[in-house]
Amino acid sequence: MRNEEMLLIPGPTPVVDSIYDALASETRSHTDPRFVAIYKKVLEQTRNLFKTDGEVFIVSGSGTIAMEMALVNTVAAGEKILVISQGYFGDRFIPLGKAFGIEVDILQSEWGKQVDPEDVEKLLGEKQYKAVTITHADTSTGVAANLEALVPIIKEHGALVILDGVCATAAMEEDMSKVYGSNPNDKIDIILTGSQKAIGIPPGLAIIAFNQTALEARKQIDRVPAYYCDIYNWLPIMQDPSKYFATPPVNLIYAYEEGMRLVLEEGLEKRYARHDAFGRAVRAALSEYGMTALADESVAASTLSCIQYPEGIDDAEFRAALAKKGVIVSGALAHLAGKAFRIGHMGNTTAQMLENAIQYIGETLNELGHKADITKAMERFRSTVSLAVN
Ligand SMILES: *Cc1c(COP(=O)(O)O)cnc(C)c1O
Repeated sequence: MRNEEMLLIPGPTPVVDSIYDALASETRSHTDPRFVAIYKKVLEQTRNLFKTDGEVFIVSGSGTIAMEMALVNTVAAGEKILVISQGYFGDRFIPLGKAFGIEVDILQSEWGKQVDPEDVEKLLGEKQYKAVTITHADTSTGVAANLEALVPIIKEHGALVILDGVCATAAMEEDMSKVYGSNPNDKIDIILTGSQKAIGIPPGLAIIAFNQTALEARKQIDRVPAYYCDIYNWLPIMQDPSKYFATPPVNLIYAYEEGMRLVLEEGLEKRYARHDAFGRAVRAALSEYGMTALADESVAASTLSCIQYPEGIDDAEFRAALAKKGVIVSGALAHLAGKAFRIGHMGNTTAQMLENAIQYIGETLNELGHKADITKAMERFRSTVSLAVN
């Protein structure tokens, strides 16, 4: 492993040597048939990953540009969206919508909780929305969305389901062929994601899947208020990657090919189970230190956890001491800043890395004067990981 530190933040996540090697391959022309073949292959793999009947777009940009691409191609200025927000990243759709003259209504949960599907149903019954946005795993709170309940309600009311999978794709189930309710159309219409979270390659790729219903919504919009983000400029390239619109990030596409190879080699079902086990085990182990997750276990995301400090632990001091041992975690956002930290447990992260992190967190707590039983926490980690995986 080339990495000197364990990057346990909610993205970017640990990159493994084979991905670094791919990234460092010779940069070729974006029209070189050898590169075009790779671009074609990853587009096909991404269609299979999401099981979409529509089209996928892989472009340069971070997750946020994927959010923008999802919205501007389906909702016109003056139309309404409903934002279901379970934290900071859910909220990001609010200024994003407003920037394009979209009318935005918001349903926010208390941080750490889910939005009540009954509240969604009530609002959808009162007003006509073009689309509803859902954040699969909100990276500020570690809360997962209740897709089973939300998707059928939204589709019954004729709105598009736009799912932000930036911190979930390839770790939590995202299947665009899955019918969530009793109607065959009860499906997710758009999934958008980024490369640096559970997919586990460096930041820089925006990945978006549109189903046929979402593509139809684009057709209804006369003029999309964007150029780079207009999917009609990208559609010919996605169908034939030897064509040019804007230079694709050649080396990142190499890295993505290797990242996807690792994802598919492990298998999606296994990956979902592994991430579920990691999340449960990290939270169980840290609870032995008197550190509780913000999200209840029943709504917790598999990919990251927001962990509250015990009395008397200073956030900056804790994270600096932990970083000295080579473990990097994130601070919490907004009103939770200083009161909690966020730990990612996704992508190429291994059980061994997490077990080591549990040990170093215990050592750090002891150094800061908070008694932590490291043996017990590590035992709890190991038993929870193996129970959940088997
Ligand atoms: C990280 C993240 C984003 C933003 O992605 P960027 O790559 O930072 O633009 C959006 N949504 C969620 C859920 C995220 O975790």
